[in-house]
Amino acid sequence: MKLHSTNGFIIYAKKMNEADMLLSYITEDYGKITCFANNARKSKKRFLGKLEPAMLTNIKFYEKPGMTLDILYEADIVEDYKNIRKDINIYLFLTKITEISRILCQERDNSKNIFYLIKNIFKSLNKLETGASTDTVSVSVNAVLLKYEIYFISNLLKFTGIYPNFSNCIECSESNLHNSFDFNLKKGGVICKSCAENKNNGNAYSEIKKLPVNFINLSDLMTGSDLSIINKLAVKEEILKDCSIFLRDFLSFHTGKRLKSFETI
Ligand SMILES: [Zn+2]
Repeated sequence: MKLHSTNGFIIYAKKMNEADMLLSYITEDYGKITCFANNARKSKKRFLGKLEPAMLTNIKFYEKPGMTLDILYEADIVEDYKNIRKDINIYLFLTKITEISRILCQERDNSKNIFYLIKNIFKSLNKLETGASTDTVSVSVNAVLLKYEIYFISNLLKFTGIYPNFSNCIECSESNLHNSFDFNLKKGGVICKSCAENKNNGNAYSEIKKLPVNFINLSDLMTGSDLSIINKLAVKEEILKDCSIFLRDFLSFHTGKRLKSFETI
């Protein structure tokens, strides 16, 4: 058995048996890993208070040849973004980050991008002011969180290689789209007007969505910038909401799964 050490964030935790746990992490060096933590809920020294979401921990785990599950040996706190767990709205967004990461990321896809994407977002959210409005401008926390959401999902789609095709019609490859805003969820790309109107290409009505206004620009900006873009962009909350719904529909269709974190009020 080999002992590994890396930093990571928990994206999934499930109680097993009487005191064991199953945990998934996005790690700095190994991508997504899933570990079995023996006696996790009783072993105070090794695990107590160290298995929270939005907490950066250094973990040591054993890899057993031929086994799909790693074995978590211990966890130590590196940084705790605890404000994220205190505010209900931010916490609900955290559940989206963890659920989407769990569904989209492949085990042992060892790109560091996803780890740093999550780390930068947690750092920034931990400092977010959510209290009463200040003397200056009161910014809707929901609008800010929607911008984080679009930033997170757009970049994650890039890093996992499933960012939609917005430049050519997915049916006929036509590049001059004449501002068509029809999107084929099943095929994962925009379609030109004539393909959208052609009843013979077998597109079910439910598979075609209207792209929200400015979605392509917004998503391109988000994937081409660092997090500071969130404070620079002024976009109406309704538009952000439409973009969020579009991304939810795209993710659900692509993965074939209902996203529970989007269903809370
Ligand atoms: Zn076409």
